[in-house]
Amino acid sequence: MALKNDCFALPSGVSWTPVADALADLRDRLSPVTSVETVPLDIAQGRVVAQDIAAPISLPPADNAAVDGYALAHVSLAPEGEQRLALNEGRAAAGAPFDGAVGPGGAIRILTGAVMPEGTDSVVMDEDVERDGDMIRFGSGLKPGANCRKAGEDIRAGDVALTAGTRLGPAELARLASTGIASVDVHARLRVAIFSTGDELAEPGEPLIAGQIYDANRAMLLALVRAQGVEAVDHGRIPDRPAAIASALTAAARDADAVIVSGGASGGDEDHVSRELSRMGAMALWRIAMKPGRPLALGQIEGVPVFGLPGNPVAAFVCFLIFARPALHRLAGALWPEPVGYPLVARFSARKKPGRTELLRARADGAGGVGKFRSDGSGLIGGLVWSDGLVMLDHDRGAVEEGEIVRFLPYAGFGLS
Ligand code: AMP
Ligand code: MG
Repeated sequence: MALKNDCFALPSGVSWTPVADALADLRDRLSPVTSVETVPLDIAQGRVVAQDIAAPISLPPADNAAVDGYALAHVSLAPEGEQRLALNEGRAAAGAPFDGAVGPGGAIRILTGAVMPEGTDSVVMDEDVERDGDMIRFGSGLKPGANCRKAGEDIRAGDVALTAGTRLGPAELARLASTGIASVDVHARLRVAIFSTGDELAEPGEPLIAGQIYDANRAMLLALVRAQGVEAVDHGRIPDRPAAIASALTAAARDADAVIVSGGASGGDEDHVSRELSRMGAMALWRIAMKPGRPLALGQIEGVPVFGLPGNPVAAFVCFLIFARPALHRLAGALWPEPVGYPLVARFSARKKPGRTELLRARADGAGGVGKFRSDGSGLIGGLVWSDGLVMLDHDRGAVEEGEIVRFLPYAGFGLS
């Protein structure tokens, strides 16, 4: 009874693919499509590393001081009691190494980042030392190698600094720069063409005629795609006419590495996207056991993958995050991204039967709990605005009682802010 009035109810007699199977299948079928280019680091942010990169040098290149203090040889220290060492002339500073050697029983002034002078292996820090003319005094217990960073402790020359498929963020750029790499081979930026279909759609900024609604999906999908660090190209709104959709599909496929279409995917009277896709090339209509979702049309035109998403904005949003997003990353040369999720306590109850994955628009309360949007109505864009993530209820899970643990996937984990 609970599912009777549910437009996403699974009709009996049709086989519905579990989300995990559909994802595994998608993952197997896709491989990087873009060419490789060399770019300087300062414009490499967000780009995807094309092949494993070996470190040209070790980091740190040499043993160096981790603190300001005095460098010494650990063997110079007495097993216990007060330590007294003779202070050498000169000092070692970052960028200004000491070019002599420190003999047994000696110590030398050293500053953070300075290369350890010959004959030294440990540093006693300023705070533990008393200067006494040309002697220094400090307590016992300094460990061998104390306050000294070892050459190669971050990375060794020849080791893999970054693996193919890594997306370059601030940390990765630091790793390349720190080993002296000034430019990097990356995949060319994936280019994704996006258009909306539907006779009812009007352009924001224009007056609305009776029976029309504004096209919400195009603005949303362009932003979703751009948030993945790939290029999005706007291919406009297309009416529900087979010829118009066919030519829009062809034009989009010629202009881009992948195409995302919303609306008309589910096989109804006016659902020309799935029909034209199957007429024009390989097409798989996936009936995925997911709410929101309905069928997801996957096709290929002249070798270019086409994702036909549901017209309903919430379903399009969720289908994009769960299916199109990892696919785009893979096509762009990146590793297949698993959704980032963590457990929270449900501050709601929800009806559910095993047999499909459900994604609820949800909001973490900052105190270990998560709420869900007041309505399950899948057309309500307000729920997308209200939420800051999705609660993912797995295929086999039944109803959720308040207080149970659920998995929360923050939008930030999908690259959204
Ligand atoms: P469809 O998948 O084409 O059957 O569309 C399903 C529902 O989503 C219908 O109510 C459409 O009016 C609505 N819809 C389709 N495309 C869009 C769009 N671009 N923006 C807003 N709503 C849409
Ligand atoms: Mg439509």
